[in-house]
Amino acid sequence: MKNVGINGYGTIGKRVADAVSCQDDMQIVGVTKRTPDFEAYLAVEKGFPLYISAPEREGLFEEAGIKVTGTIDDLYSKIDVMVDCTPGGIGAKNKEVYDDMGVKGIFQGGEKHEQIGKSFNSFSNYKDNLGADFVRVVSCNTTGLCRTLKPIDDLCGIKKVRAVMVRRGADPGQIKSGPINAIVPNPPTVPSHHGPDVQTVMYDLDITTIALLVPTTLMHQHNLMVELETPPALDDVIDTLEATPRVLLVEAEKGLGSTAEIMEYARDLGRPRSDLNEIAVWKESLNIKDGELFYMQAIHQESDVVPENVDCIRAMLEMEDDPAKSIEKTNKNMGIN
Ligand code: NAD
Repeated sequence: MKNVGINGYGTIGKRVADAVSCQDDMQIVGVTKRTPDFEAYLAVEKGFPLYISAPEREGLFEEAGIKVTGTIDDLYSKIDVMVDCTPGGIGAKNKEVYDDMGVKGIFQGGEKHEQIGKSFNSFSNYKDNLGADFVRVVSCNTTGLCRTLKPIDDLCGIKKVRAVMVRRGADPGQIKSGPINAIVPNPPTVPSHHGPDVQTVMYDLDITTIALLVPTTLMHQHNLMVELETPPALDDVIDTLEATPRVLLVEAEKGLGSTAEIMEYARDLGRPRSDLNEIAVWKESLNIKDGELFYMQAIHQESDVVPENVDCIRAMLEMEDDPAKSIEKTNKNMGIN
Protein backbone atom coordinates (compact mmCIF):
# COMPACT_ATOMS: atom_id res chain seq x y z
CA MET A 1 0.00 0.00 0.00
CA LYS A 2 1.54 3.31 -1.10
CA ASN A 3 1.01 6.52 0.84
CA VAL A 4 -0.13 9.60 -1.03
CA GLY A 5 -0.37 13.25 0.04
CA ILE A 6 -2.39 15.94 -1.71
CA ASN A 7 -1.03 19.48 -1.62
CA GLY A 8 -3.96 21.81 -2.44
CA TYR A 9 -7.36 20.30 -1.67
CA GLY A 10 -9.28 22.29 -4.32
CA THR A 11 -11.11 21.42 -7.54
CA ILE A 12 -8.58 18.83 -8.72
CA GLY A 13 -7.08 17.91 -5.34
CA LYS A 14 -10.32 16.80 -3.71
CA ARG A 15 -11.19 14.66 -6.73
CA VAL A 16 -7.77 13.01 -6.81
CA ALA A 17 -8.07 12.34 -3.06
CA ASP A 18 -11.35 10.49 -3.62
CA ALA A 19 -10.01 8.59 -6.65
CA VAL A 20 -6.93 7.43 -4.70
CA SER A 21 -9.13 6.44 -1.75
CA CYS A 22 -11.14 3.99 -3.84
CA GLN A 23 -8.03 2.12 -5.10
CA ASP A 24 -6.78 -0.94 -3.18
CA ASP A 25 -3.05 -0.31 -3.65
CA MET A 26 -2.73 3.30 -2.45
CA GLN A 27 -4.19 5.50 0.27
CA ILE A 28 -4.39 9.17 1.23
CA VAL A 29 -2.40 9.92 4.39
CA GLY A 30 -2.89 13.67 4.33
CA VAL A 31 -4.28 16.60 2.39
CA THR A 32 -3.24 20.23 2.74
CA LYS A 33 -5.19 23.44 2.85
CA ARG A 34 -3.99 27.02 2.99
CA THR A 35 -7.36 28.55 3.85
CA PRO A 36 -9.88 27.31 6.45
CA ASP A 37 -12.79 27.29 4.00
CA PHE A 38 -15.62 24.79 3.39
CA GLU A 39 -13.25 22.42 1.59
CA ALA A 40 -11.09 22.25 4.73
CA TYR A 41 -14.18 21.43 6.85
CA LEU A 42 -15.24 18.75 4.37
CA ALA A 43 -11.76 17.19 4.19
CA VAL A 44 -11.82 16.66 7.97
CA GLU A 45 -15.42 15.43 7.88
CA LYS A 46 -14.44 12.85 5.23
CA GLY A 47 -11.68 11.59 7.50
CA PHE A 48 -8.66 12.93 5.60
CA PRO A 49 -5.88 14.05 7.96
CA LEU A 50 -5.58 17.82 7.29
CA TYR A 51 -2.23 19.61 7.22
CA ILE A 52 -1.66 23.36 6.85
CA SER A 53 0.45 24.28 3.84
CA ALA A 54 1.18 27.76 5.24
CA PRO A 55 2.28 27.10 8.86
CA GLU A 56 2.05 30.83 9.74
CA ARG A 57 -1.72 30.58 9.17
CA GLU A 58 -2.30 27.95 11.87
CA GLY A 59 -4.19 30.51 13.99
CA LEU A 60 -6.82 30.95 11.26
CA PHE A 61 -7.64 27.24 11.37
CA GLU A 62 -7.84 27.32 15.18
CA GLU A 63 -10.19 30.34 15.03
CA ALA A 64 -12.37 28.51 12.48
CA GLY A 65 -12.51 25.47 14.76
CA ILE A 66 -10.97 23.16 12.16
CA LYS A 67 -8.96 20.30 13.61
CA VAL A 68 -5.59 19.96 11.91
CA THR A 69 -3.11 17.10 12.18
CA GLY A 70 -0.05 19.26 11.58
CA THR A 71 1.76 21.39 9.05
CA ILE A 72 2.93 20.26 5.63
CA ASP A 73 6.43 19.71 7.06
CA ASP A 74 4.99 16.90 9.21
CA LEU A 75 3.47 15.23 6.13
CA TYR A 76 6.59 14.70 3.98
CA SER A 77 7.98 11.81 6.03
CA LYS A 78 4.67 9.92 5.78
CA ILE A 79 4.30 9.85 1.98
CA ASP A 80 5.67 8.06 -1.07
CA VAL A 81 4.42 10.78 -3.42
CA MET A 82 2.87 14.24 -3.17
CA VAL A 83 0.19 15.07 -5.74
CA ASP A 84 0.52 18.84 -6.08
CA CYS A 85 -2.85 20.37 -6.98
CA THR A 86 -2.04 23.97 -6.10
CA PRO A 87 -2.92 26.80 -8.53
CA GLY A 88 -0.79 27.02 -11.69
CA GLY A 89 2.76 28.27 -11.13
CA ILE A 90 2.98 27.34 -7.45
CA GLY A 91 3.76 23.69 -8.11
CA ALA A 92 7.04 24.51 -9.85
CA LYS A 93 8.18 26.35 -6.69
CA ASN A 94 7.02 23.45 -4.51
CA LYS A 95 9.07 21.05 -6.63
CA GLU A 96 12.27 22.43 -5.09
CA VAL A 97 10.91 21.74 -1.60
CA TYR A 98 9.86 18.18 -2.51
CA ASP A 99 13.32 17.62 -3.94
CA ASP A 100 14.94 18.83 -0.69
CA MET A 101 12.59 16.60 1.33
CA GLY A 102 13.32 13.55 -0.86
CA VAL A 103 9.68 13.20 -1.91
CA LYS A 104 8.40 12.42 -5.43
CA GLY A 105 5.92 14.92 -6.89
CA ILE A 106 3.09 14.89 -9.42
CA PHE A 107 2.07 18.27 -10.83
CA GLN A 108 -0.91 19.48 -12.85
CA GLY A 109 -1.37 21.12 -16.23
CA GLY A 110 -1.03 24.66 -14.85
CA GLU A 111 2.72 24.07 -14.50
CA LYS A 112 5.09 24.43 -17.42
CA HIS A 113 6.51 21.20 -18.87
CA GLU A 114 10.03 22.68 -18.95
CA GLN A 115 9.96 23.42 -15.21
CA ILE A 116 8.88 19.91 -14.22
CA GLY A 117 10.85 18.02 -16.88
CA LYS A 118 8.42 15.21 -17.74
CA SER A 119 4.75 15.12 -18.72
CA PHE A 120 2.27 12.25 -18.54
CA ASN A 121 -0.80 10.85 -20.24
CA SER A 122 -1.86 7.29 -19.40
CA PHE A 123 -2.47 6.31 -23.03
CA SER A 124 0.42 8.16 -24.67
CA ASN A 125 3.59 7.77 -22.59
CA TYR A 126 2.94 5.87 -19.33
CA LYS A 127 6.07 3.72 -19.67
CA ASP A 128 8.34 6.76 -20.18
CA ASN A 129 7.48 7.84 -16.63
CA LEU A 130 8.16 4.54 -14.81
CA GLY A 131 10.14 5.38 -11.67
CA ALA A 132 10.32 9.12 -12.43
CA ASP A 133 10.64 11.57 -9.54
CA PHE A 134 8.77 14.60 -10.91
CA VAL A 135 6.01 14.38 -13.50
CA ARG A 136 3.30 16.71 -14.74
CA VAL A 137 -0.12 15.31 -15.72
CA VAL A 138 -1.03 17.32 -18.82
CA SER A 139 -3.96 19.77 -18.70
CA CYS A 140 -7.62 18.89 -19.12
CA ASN A 141 -7.65 20.06 -22.75
CA THR A 142 -4.45 18.19 -23.61
CA THR A 143 -5.74 15.06 -21.87
CA GLY A 144 -8.91 15.30 -23.97
CA LEU A 145 -6.95 15.63 -27.20
CA CYS A 146 -4.64 12.71 -26.36
CA ARG A 147 -7.49 10.40 -25.31
CA THR A 148 -8.97 10.38 -28.82
CA LEU A 149 -5.92 11.14 -31.00
CA LYS A 150 -3.75 8.32 -29.62
CA PRO A 151 -6.15 5.46 -30.53
CA ILE A 152 -6.73 7.03 -33.97
CA ASP A 153 -2.96 7.32 -34.51
CA ASP A 154 -2.57 3.67 -33.47
CA LEU A 155 -5.35 2.64 -35.86
CA CYS A 156 -4.30 4.37 -39.06
CA GLY A 157 -1.50 6.87 -38.48
CA ILE A 158 -1.94 10.64 -38.31
CA LYS A 159 -0.29 13.01 -40.80
CA LYS A 160 -1.47 16.26 -39.29
CA VAL A 161 -4.01 17.58 -36.75
CA ARG A 162 -5.74 20.94 -36.62
CA ALA A 163 -8.00 21.62 -33.65
CA VAL A 164 -10.18 24.54 -32.58
CA MET A 165 -10.90 24.49 -28.91
CA VAL A 166 -13.81 26.28 -27.27
CA ARG A 167 -12.88 26.64 -23.62
CA ARG A 168 -15.08 27.22 -20.59
CA GLY A 169 -14.58 30.66 -19.05
CA ALA A 170 -14.51 29.40 -15.43
CA ASP A 171 -15.21 26.34 -13.32
CA PRO A 172 -18.78 26.22 -11.87
CA GLY A 173 -17.58 27.20 -8.39
CA GLN A 174 -15.51 30.19 -9.51
CA ILE A 175 -16.85 33.74 -9.21
CA LYS A 176 -13.88 35.78 -10.39
CA SER A 177 -13.23 34.52 -13.91
CA GLY A 178 -15.02 35.18 -17.16
CA PRO A 179 -15.96 36.24 -19.75
CA ILE A 180 -19.66 36.65 -18.96
CA ASN A 181 -20.70 38.15 -22.29
CA ALA A 182 -17.97 37.78 -24.91
CA ILE A 183 -16.10 35.31 -27.09
CA VAL A 184 -12.41 35.78 -26.43
CA PRO A 185 -9.66 34.45 -28.70
CA ASN A 186 -7.43 32.98 -25.96
CA PRO A 187 -4.68 33.43 -26.77
CA PRO A 188 -5.34 35.91 -29.60
CA THR A 189 -2.24 34.54 -31.31
CA VAL A 190 -2.16 31.39 -33.44
CA PRO A 191 -1.26 28.68 -32.64
CA SER A 192 -2.28 28.26 -28.99
CA HIS A 193 -0.03 26.46 -26.50
CA HIS A 194 -2.19 23.33 -26.56
CA GLY A 195 -0.53 21.78 -29.63
CA PRO A 196 2.98 21.95 -28.12
CA ASP A 197 1.50 20.64 -24.87
CA VAL A 198 0.21 17.52 -26.69
CA GLN A 199 3.73 17.07 -28.09
CA THR A 200 5.09 16.72 -24.52
CA VAL A 201 3.39 13.28 -24.44
CA MET A 202 2.75 12.42 -28.15
CA TYR A 203 6.23 13.49 -29.16
CA ASP A 204 6.05 13.29 -32.98
CA LEU A 205 2.48 14.42 -33.60
CA ASP A 206 2.08 17.29 -36.09
CA ILE A 207 -0.63 19.36 -34.38
CA THR A 208 -1.72 23.00 -34.52
CA THR A 209 -4.39 24.42 -32.20
CA ILE A 210 -6.50 27.58 -31.88
CA ALA A 211 -8.43 28.37 -28.68
CA LEU A 212 -11.35 30.58 -27.66
CA LEU A 213 -12.87 31.34 -24.25
CA VAL A 214 -16.67 31.47 -23.98
CA PRO A 215 -19.17 32.24 -21.19
CA THR A 216 -19.88 28.72 -19.94
CA THR A 217 -18.70 26.74 -16.94
CA LEU A 218 -19.80 23.22 -17.79
CA MET A 219 -17.25 21.79 -20.25
CA HIS A 220 -14.69 22.54 -22.93
CA GLN A 221 -15.58 21.64 -26.52
CA HIS A 222 -13.07 20.63 -29.25
CA ASN A 223 -13.40 20.56 -33.06
CA LEU A 224 -10.82 18.34 -34.73
CA MET A 225 -9.61 17.95 -38.30
CA VAL A 226 -7.21 15.03 -38.63
CA GLU A 227 -5.34 14.15 -41.84
CA LEU A 228 -4.83 10.38 -41.82
CA GLU A 229 -1.92 8.30 -43.15
CA THR A 230 -4.09 5.35 -44.24
CA PRO A 231 -7.76 6.36 -44.06
CA PRO A 232 -9.82 3.43 -42.73
CA ALA A 233 -13.57 2.89 -43.03
CA LEU A 234 -15.47 5.26 -40.75
CA ASP A 235 -16.90 2.25 -38.89
CA ASP A 236 -13.36 1.23 -37.93
CA VAL A 237 -12.82 4.63 -36.31
CA ILE A 238 -16.15 4.33 -34.50
CA ASP A 239 -15.32 0.79 -33.31
CA THR A 240 -11.90 1.94 -32.12
CA LEU A 241 -13.26 4.87 -30.12
CA GLU A 242 -16.04 2.71 -28.70
CA ALA A 243 -13.41 0.24 -27.48
CA THR A 244 -11.16 2.97 -26.00
CA PRO A 245 -11.38 3.32 -22.21
CA ARG A 246 -12.28 6.81 -20.90
CA VAL A 247 -13.89 7.73 -24.23
CA LEU A 248 -17.66 7.79 -24.56
CA LEU A 249 -19.51 8.08 -27.88
CA VAL A 250 -22.65 10.18 -27.38
CA GLU A 251 -25.47 10.88 -29.82
CA ALA A 252 -27.26 14.18 -30.34
CA GLU A 253 -30.15 12.11 -31.65
CA LYS A 254 -30.57 10.62 -28.17
CA GLY A 255 -30.80 14.03 -26.53
CA LEU A 256 -27.08 14.56 -25.93
CA GLY A 257 -26.59 17.34 -28.48
CA SER A 258 -24.91 19.86 -26.17
CA THR A 259 -22.59 20.15 -23.19
CA ALA A 260 -25.62 21.02 -21.01
CA GLU A 261 -27.34 17.75 -21.88
CA ILE A 262 -24.12 15.75 -21.47
CA MET A 263 -23.65 17.14 -17.96
CA GLU A 264 -27.31 16.41 -17.18
CA TYR A 265 -26.58 12.82 -18.26
CA ALA A 266 -23.53 12.82 -15.95
CA ARG A 267 -25.77 13.98 -13.09
CA ASP A 268 -28.17 11.14 -13.87
CA LEU A 269 -25.32 8.60 -13.77
CA GLY A 270 -25.10 9.44 -10.06
CA ARG A 271 -21.32 9.64 -9.97
CA PRO A 272 -19.54 11.63 -7.21
CA ARG A 273 -19.88 15.39 -7.90
CA SER A 274 -21.69 14.49 -11.17
CA ASP A 275 -18.29 14.15 -12.81
CA LEU A 276 -17.80 12.78 -16.31
CA ASN A 277 -14.21 11.52 -16.39
CA GLU A 278 -14.61 10.20 -19.92
CA ILE A 279 -14.21 12.33 -23.07
CA ALA A 280 -17.59 12.59 -24.83
CA VAL A 281 -17.31 12.32 -28.63
CA TRP A 282 -20.36 13.18 -30.73
CA LYS A 283 -20.94 10.08 -32.88
CA GLU A 284 -22.76 12.07 -35.58
CA SER A 285 -19.78 14.43 -35.94
CA LEU A 286 -17.39 11.65 -37.01
CA ASN A 287 -16.83 11.90 -40.75
CA ILE A 288 -14.00 11.11 -43.20
CA LYS A 289 -13.72 13.32 -46.29
CA ASP A 290 -10.77 13.22 -48.72
CA GLY A 291 -8.65 11.29 -46.22
CA GLU A 292 -9.37 13.72 -43.37
CA LEU A 293 -11.25 12.74 -40.22
CA PHE A 294 -13.54 15.33 -38.61
CA TYR A 295 -15.08 15.10 -35.14
CA MET A 296 -16.30 17.09 -32.14
CA GLN A 297 -15.84 16.25 -28.48
CA ALA A 298 -16.62 17.61 -25.01
CA ILE A 299 -14.33 17.61 -21.99
CA HIS A 300 -15.39 17.83 -18.34
CA GLN A 301 -12.46 19.95 -17.28
CA GLU A 302 -12.80 19.31 -13.54
CA SER A 303 -12.54 15.54 -13.78
CA ASP A 304 -10.91 14.10 -16.93
CA VAL A 305 -7.37 14.36 -15.50
CA VAL A 306 -8.29 12.61 -12.24
CA PRO A 307 -7.86 8.94 -13.32
CA GLU A 308 -4.64 9.99 -15.08
CA ASN A 309 -3.25 11.15 -11.70
CA VAL A 310 -3.95 7.69 -10.24
CA ASP A 311 -2.17 5.97 -13.16
CA CYS A 312 0.72 8.44 -12.83
CA ILE A 313 1.18 7.41 -9.18
CA ARG A 314 1.39 3.74 -10.28
CA ALA A 315 3.93 4.55 -12.99
CA MET A 316 6.17 6.74 -10.81
CA LEU A 317 6.13 4.30 -7.89
CA GLU A 318 6.62 1.36 -10.31
CA MET A 319 3.53 -0.38 -8.96
CA GLU A 320 2.43 -1.50 -12.45
CA ASP A 321 4.48 -1.60 -15.66
CA ASP A 322 1.56 -2.13 -18.03
CA PRO A 323 -0.49 1.01 -18.74
CA ALA A 324 -3.53 -1.01 -19.87
CA LYS A 325 -3.62 -2.84 -16.51
CA SER A 326 -3.36 0.39 -14.53
CA ILE A 327 -6.06 2.07 -16.64
CA GLU A 328 -8.36 -0.92 -16.17
CA LYS A 329 -7.78 -1.05 -12.41
CA THR A 330 -8.25 2.70 -11.94
CA ASN A 331 -11.44 2.69 -13.99
CA LYS A 332 -12.93 -0.34 -12.26
CA ASN A 333 -12.29 1.11 -8.80
CA MET A 334 -13.66 4.54 -9.80
CA GLY A 335 -16.67 3.01 -11.56
CA ILE A 336 -15.91 4.65 -14.90
CA ASN A 337 -15.77 3.28 -18.46
P1 NAD B 1 -8.18 25.41 -7.13
O1 NAD B 1 -8.00 26.86 -6.97
O2 NAD B 1 -9.57 24.87 -7.24
O3 NAD B 1 -7.49 24.63 -5.93
C1 NAD B 1 -6.20 24.96 -5.50
C2 NAD B 1 -6.01 24.57 -4.05
O4 NAD B 1 -4.69 24.95 -3.65
C3 NAD B 1 -6.97 25.28 -3.09
O5 NAD B 1 -7.33 24.35 -2.07
C4 NAD B 1 -6.13 26.41 -2.49
O6 NAD B 1 -6.55 26.73 -1.18
C5 NAD B 1 -4.75 25.77 -2.47
N1 NAD B 1 -3.66 26.76 -2.54
C6 NAD B 1 -3.69 28.01 -3.03
N2 NAD B 1 -2.47 28.58 -2.94
C7 NAD B 1 -1.67 27.66 -2.36
C8 NAD B 1 -0.31 27.65 -1.99
N3 NAD B 1 0.47 28.72 -2.19
N4 NAD B 1 0.20 26.52 -1.44
C9 NAD B 1 -0.58 25.43 -1.24
N5 NAD B 1 -1.89 25.40 -1.56
C10 NAD B 1 -2.42 26.50 -2.12
O7 NAD B 1 -7.32 24.99 -8.40
P2 NAD B 1 -7.59 23.79 -9.41
O8 NAD B 1 -8.60 24.21 -10.41
O9 NAD B 1 -7.80 22.54 -8.64
O10 NAD B 1 -6.21 23.76 -10.19
C11 NAD B 1 -5.08 23.09 -9.65
C12 NAD B 1 -4.14 22.72 -10.78
O11 NAD B 1 -4.84 21.83 -11.66
C13 NAD B 1 -3.68 23.88 -11.66
O12 NAD B 1 -2.38 23.58 -12.15
C14 NAD B 1 -4.66 23.85 -12.82
O13 NAD B 1 -4.15 24.45 -13.99
C15 NAD B 1 -4.83 22.35 -12.99
N6 NAD B 1 -6.08 21.94 -13.64
C16 NAD B 1 -7.25 22.53 -13.34
C17 NAD B 1 -8.40 22.12 -14.00
C18 NAD B 1 -9.73 22.75 -13.75
O14 NAD B 1 -10.59 22.74 -14.61
N7 NAD B 1 -9.97 23.33 -12.61
C19 NAD B 1 -8.34 21.08 -14.92
C20 NAD B 1 -7.12 20.43 -15.15
C21 NAD B 1 -5.98 20.87 -14.50
